[in-house]
Amino acid sequence: MKIHFHGAAGMVTGSCYRVECGNTQFLVDCGMFQGNKSLKQLNYGEFSFIPKKIDFVLVTHAHIDHTGLLPKLVKKGFSGKIYASRPTADLLTFMLPDSARIQETEVEQKNRRGERKGQPALEPIYTSEDAEKTLSLIQGIDQNENIELNDSVQVKFRNAGHVLGSSFLEVVLTEGGATKRIIFSGDLGSKDHPILKDPDLPGETDVLLVESTYGDRVRPEEKKEDRLQRLAAVIRESKKRGGNLIIPAFAVERTQDIMHDIMIVMDRKLIPETQVVVDSPLAINATKVFAKYPDLYDEDATGLMKNKGSIFDHPNFKFTITAAESMALNDKRGIIIMSASGMCDAGRIKHHLKHNLWRRDSTILFVGYQAEGTLGRLLLDGEKIVRIQGQEIRVEARIEEMMGYSGHADQNGLMEWVGSLKDVHDKVFVVHGEEDSRNALAKLIKERKNFSVQIPAMGETYDLLQIVTRESPVPAIAVSRDSFNLYADLSIKLAEFMRREKDEEKRRTFLERILKSV
Ligand SMILES: [Zn+2]
Ligand SMILES: [Zn+2]
Repeated sequence: MKIHFHGAAGMVTGSCYRVECGNTQFLVDCGMFQGNKSLKQLNYGEFSFIPKKIDFVLVTHAHIDHTGLLPKLVKKGFSGKIYASRPTADLLTFMLPDSARIQETEVEQKNRRGERKGQPALEPIYTSEDAEKTLSLIQGIDQNENIELNDSVQVKFRNAGHVLGSSFLEVVLTEGGATKRIIFSGDLGSKDHPILKDPDLPGETDVLLVESTYGDRVRPEEKKEDRLQRLAAVIRESKKRGGNLIIPAFAVERTQDIMHDIMIVMDRKLIPETQVVVDSPLAINATKVFAKYPDLYDEDATGLMKNKGSIFDHPNFKFTITAAESMALNDKRGIIIMSASGMCDAGRIKHHLKHNLWRRDSTILFVGYQAEGTLGRLLLDGEKIVRIQGQEIRVEARIEEMMGYSGHADQNGLMEWVGSLKDVHDKVFVVHGEEDSRNALAKLIKERKNFSVQIPAMGETYDLLQIVTRESPVPAIAVSRDSFNLYADLSIKLAEFMRREKDEEKRRTFLERILKSV
């Protein structure tokens, strides 16, 4: 009975754990690595297990960093069932094909550039066809039911309050005479999140895997009312400045959360009449799934439903589907544009940032986690010049951030959730966090709960019946700024230097010195 850590160990993305129990082998999540190029590169490598030998996959929630490599798994020979909650299954029907399209387009662009340099052509990680095949293997199941997957594995999906349908998993493993309970937290949401019910609390377990995205951060407590007032203030201020308000938002959950809150502040006349454009075909599909599961809404959203008939329909809301409609937004002023991806590293948001970052009257509002190495993190960190699609863009727009929409529990929320466990008999594994976050949360769990805590590294395996570390070293990956980030910095600085330094002699001496050192 073993657990292997194939991702989200030392970083937030690429969630993938493999469990061996008797003759069964299964995965919990099969996520894509996101962030800098070194991390993304991991998506192209071979799996460090044999996909054909995996019997089934349990999926905690629909986010791509938990599901994005499922089509690769299928491409490489996996043909078992993929179990997910019903809303998760619905969300994946368009999220995985979308992810495939992104892979195909990215590789196409790379190959076009590579061809000119005489580099060999790359193959996409997976294609739309692989994604379609994957969808046929997904089986939606109900939360809160004990499901017997086979003689040795039983699972219960419970509400994790992170995105629609998100679950933490209570798994019971039986091998020979031994039984172990293991809980996979997936991603945990915070209380008072818009639309979603608060996360359920776990009981007791032998082994716990807990996420730690915000393991070292306590967010200032933002009550629902404060959140609404602050959103209204940002919208009013942006309207006064005259430019657009650009909100990079994950298509699933965050976009619907913001729509839900804008609906409330509009209704209360806290903001002037403003057009709100949701420029993300994915978000439109996700909104339909949200509309399908009103029984999962919290009290506020249920109340809003009763008053308005829907929480997403308003005459000022506009959804744009085609690229032409999206392009037409370039000339608009004074509107709100919500677009994905939430971390600004892909999708239509890049194009909106290119058209708005350099304008003094624009406002960019961040409402979600920005991983190290992403464009979103650079902007939040105050970079003055960024590169988008090969072009340098000067950042003149106002940058705002609201933490109240975070889909992740902060340190207090995580501790409250872990604290609700009566006991963890064997081991807590702290995963899904950058180094500082994992260390901080691990320390707190040890101090306050006296549980035995382990910080697993990528590629490690633990025997669940003995919990003895067995290293299988994989090279360490620069999770923050990798050489590609530094290369981008250098090229920006060089261009700046060429603009600033007018003396030809000085320019030549300086550049010759650099060239010599390369
Ligand atoms: Zn997530
Ligand atoms: Zn995650």
